[in-house]
Amino acid sequence: MTQTPTATTTESEPHTAGAAVPARTMRALVKSKAEPGLWFDGQRRLPTGSSGIVGAPGPTEAMIRVKMAGVCGTDRHIYEWDHWAQSRIPVGIVTGHEFVGEIVAVGQGVTRVKVGQRVTAEGHITKGTDFNSRTGNAHIARDMRILGVDRDGCFADYVIVPQYNVWPLHEDVPDRIAAVMDPLGNAVHTVMTAGVSAQSVLITGAGIIGLMAVTVARAAGASKIFVTDVDPRRLELAKELGADFVFDPTRGDDWIGVIDQHTPGGGCDVLLEMSGAASAINAGFTALRNGGTAALLGIPGKPIEFDLSNHVIFKGARIFGVNGRRMWATWYQMEELILSGRLKLDKIITHTLPFEDYERAFKLMQSGDGIKIVLDLTA
Ligand SMILES: [Zn+2]
Repeated sequence: MTQTPTATTTESEPHTAGAAVPARTMRALVKSKAEPGLWFDGQRRLPTGSSGIVGAPGPTEAMIRVKMAGVCGTDRHIYEWDHWAQSRIPVGIVTGHEFVGEIVAVGQGVTRVKVGQRVTAEGHITKGTDFNSRTGNAHIARDMRILGVDRDGCFADYVIVPQYNVWPLHEDVPDRIAAVMDPLGNAVHTVMTAGVSAQSVLITGAGIIGLMAVTVARAAGASKIFVTDVDPRRLELAKELGADFVFDPTRGDDWIGVIDQHTPGGGCDVLLEMSGAASAINAGFTALRNGGTAALLGIPGKPIEFDLSNHVIFKGARIFGVNGRRMWATWYQMEELILSGRLKLDKIITHTLPFEDYERAFKLMQSGDGIKIVLDLTA
């Protein structure tokens, strides 16, 4: 224990010393119906802790008041109610998994974090008993449950997570950056898995994480950065973030030839696949040099056709599948990169909107006018 419970605290109440006691209900964005949309609930019950008590963190959990929350591509899938969302998302769930906030209550067994701390959290939650959790790979544990996907998330005034998942924030990390450490962690994990120092890097797909990967790869010492995407606005931004060459593959130019000309090995050393598009995956491997390394993060919507013989076997390529963030290596790397001042994230976070304006956030994502959008729950 790092704090004194109040005299009135009982087994069924959270310890809230030093923080405002939360209200009985809260605002939340809920997947209320099995159809496209998210529904604003101004009277949602507080989240339920692992002990099954509404509004009370379980013995080893923390309850956090959410200040800002990032809107993710995953949230867009849930909003649009696509095939994946229909197969995975329980109707009635509070959505959202990227956030920054302040701890307002902790369970009796919590020792690592305390009320009043400014925090974010790793949204991949496991019991820690799985083989992978016990061997340093908790990010791919088989019992993993994801915040805002499998359990109530952070598009709400309050969210409950295990203390293990809480990441206390350095005071120099601003709130709006802290709110997007989840996707930034995907980018850092992918870049670090491939290893880009003094390497030429091709990033296929300049979405949120692809753009983050540009600035991370630059900060991590990539020698040359090539980026492909079909949206000229995103390619322009990729250049501002540090890309040396950008290509729109639909224009019919010989962009793979350009990469060949500008790399001694006849192709890029590293491919970071961020699109999930079959055409981009195949083209990306064509542009990869023999003996190159590919790290794949983009998720194809369905099984794709892929030239395994030429792209991997004859090429002697090394391939890594990348999922989530390493706990906690990626988080330490990410904090160092943010504090170094070398990441250009402000241009990727295009909008900060009041919580109630969430419909506009999804429209901005759908139109491509917005890239990373953060909802401000304090506005
Ligand atoms: Zn996300």
